[in-house]
Amino acid sequence: MGTSTKMLIIRNIGLILTGKIEAPIADGDCVIAVDGRISAIGYEKDLDTEGATTIVDANGCTIAPGLIDSHVHPVIGDYTPRQQQLHWIDSTLHGGVTTMVSAGEVHMPGRPKDIVGLKAMSIAAQRWYENFRPSGVKVLAGAPVIEHGMEEHDFKELANAGVKFLGEVGLGTVKDGKTANQMVSWARKYGIQSTIHTGGPSIPGSGLIDADMVLETGTDVVGHINGGHSALPDGQIVCLCENCAQGLEIVHNGNERAALLTLNTARELNKLDQIILGTDGPAGSGVQPLGIMRMVAMLSSLGDVPAEIAFCFATGNTARQRELDAGLMEVGATADFVLMDQAQHAPGKNILESVQLGNLPGIGMMIIDGEIRSHRSRNTPPAQNLPEELT
Ligand SMILES: [Zn+2]
Repeated sequence: MGTSTKMLIIRNIGLILTGKIEAPIADGDCVIAVDGRISAIGYEKDLDTEGATTIVDANGCTIAPGLIDSHVHPVIGDYTPRQQQLHWIDSTLHGGVTTMVSAGEVHMPGRPKDIVGLKAMSIAAQRWYENFRPSGVKVLAGAPVIEHGMEEHDFKELANAGVKFLGEVGLGTVKDGKTANQMVSWARKYGIQSTIHTGGPSIPGSGLIDADMVLETGTDVVGHINGGHSALPDGQIVCLCENCAQGLEIVHNGNERAALLTLNTARELNKLDQIILGTDGPAGSGVQPLGIMRMVAMLSSLGDVPAEIAFCFATGNTARQRELDAGLMEVGATADFVLMDQAQHAPGKNILESVQLGNLPGIGMMIIDGEIRSHRSRNTPPAQNLPEELT
């Protein structure tokens, strides 16, 4: 190994969650990462642990891939003008999240809506979050909201400049399926993913997007299928679950009854691998540092889903549906982890049962790219056991 190689060993792990819905729990008590990527998962006695630069004793805690928020509205740095709040991303790291995907930087005061201006802002937003990761969190931003008058070359230009995601279709002037479908197709042609504002208007100025418009537009993700906040009528949500082969995104800032309808319908259709989670914050309802973890506990408990599967909604499912370099516990994957344990005095015989009873776990450590980014969470309930950095 070269002198600059960084090797992280996490040993004495109580439970390894994989993020893979087909096999959500892995055997082993040890995970090793070299230069920010997972190099081994298994039992410490079977693994080569020579050359560690950092050793973490998990003290029996559970390890999972860092959680992914599929739907955020960042603006700049670790500040949101929406609720005049500082350090919301750092707070969210303390809620287990290591990757966020922008659904549009729509809260930027004076946001340009002319085509030259919106392209410039998207490219700038993509750059400023690539160049500056608040507390290490990966914010995949620079998501333009499509407006009337955009042409194919605009999407090519955006893609060439590094833009990878569209903001929610429907938040701009394009509110008809035909135009939206054309623009989403151009975006896809150049490798830009798309999502859509499903449901009623979120705040004054946004509009209704019904199931017909979602289906006609054909985005890569059905954004907040449970509304943000106002959900579509039940029949339309069921219709979307039946007819969509892409990500069915449930958000914290949506309708919780509609979230459970989506979950139950997807389960009946054998489509649980399409369920992905977002907060849709910052928004009118504030910021939710624990939003993704709360969704895991809510869907697991009220939706009767084993906790290890609910964690997949927030990790591997999102990574696969959105083609992210994150969210999976496997050799070669990026070493973004949450270490957590059953909260003190929470009922349940272990962390999984406790989550399925609706309780949040306590987070003890966050790791991004193989580096420790935070120790005991200041936001979750205290855990029974805490991991410890030994060197
Ligand atoms: Zn929305």
